[in-house]
Amino acid sequence: MFQSPGFNKITWVETPNQNKRPVGAVVDTIVLHHTAQDSLRTTAEFFAKESSKVSAHFCIGKDGSIVQFLSTFDRAWHAGVSTDAYGRKGVNDFSIGIEIDNIGDGKEPFTEPQLRALDNLIAFLLFRFPTIKQITSHEFVAEPQGRKNDPKNFPWERLKHFGLPLNYGLKVKK
Ligand SMILES: [Zn+2]
Repeated sequence: MFQSPGFNKITWVETPNQNKRPVGAVVDTIVLHHTAQDSLRTTAEFFAKESSKVSAHFCIGKDGSIVQFLSTFDRAWHAGVSTDAYGRKGVNDFSIGIEIDNIGDGKEPFTEPQLRALDNLIAFLLFRFPTIKQITSHEFVAEPQGRKNDPKNFPWERLKHFGLPLNYGLKVKK
């Protein structure tokens, strides 16, 4: 039975939708998403189902609860067909996917506890993976361009202090 763990706390819900990263893959990218679901629980249940064929390493609820679905050493299925700012394809191979619980209509705001939990999670990931060199969006990496729009209306200025390139919006400006 799923229960939100509470602000900044992490609970584990194992997803079957994962596999090994390619041998020698270096984790150097964080990809942000919005879930387009109505709750953290809905997303947790969706990723726990084999039939969904999707997953991410983490999902952050509106109260700052964090669910982890697989080890960051393994490959989650969040980016799909994708190319990053450096022209590298198959972004799942070298990235950590973080979903943010948000309906994705461009109106529902990301909450303050959610943004604070995200900040703490990214800080932890940078400590654990000093190789991380960019934070990007699903919208930016998804191919073809325009296939995804998430995380829609995310306040990117909140991540400036990490001093990393923030690659979001569309690669091909319209
Ligand atoms: Zn996404």
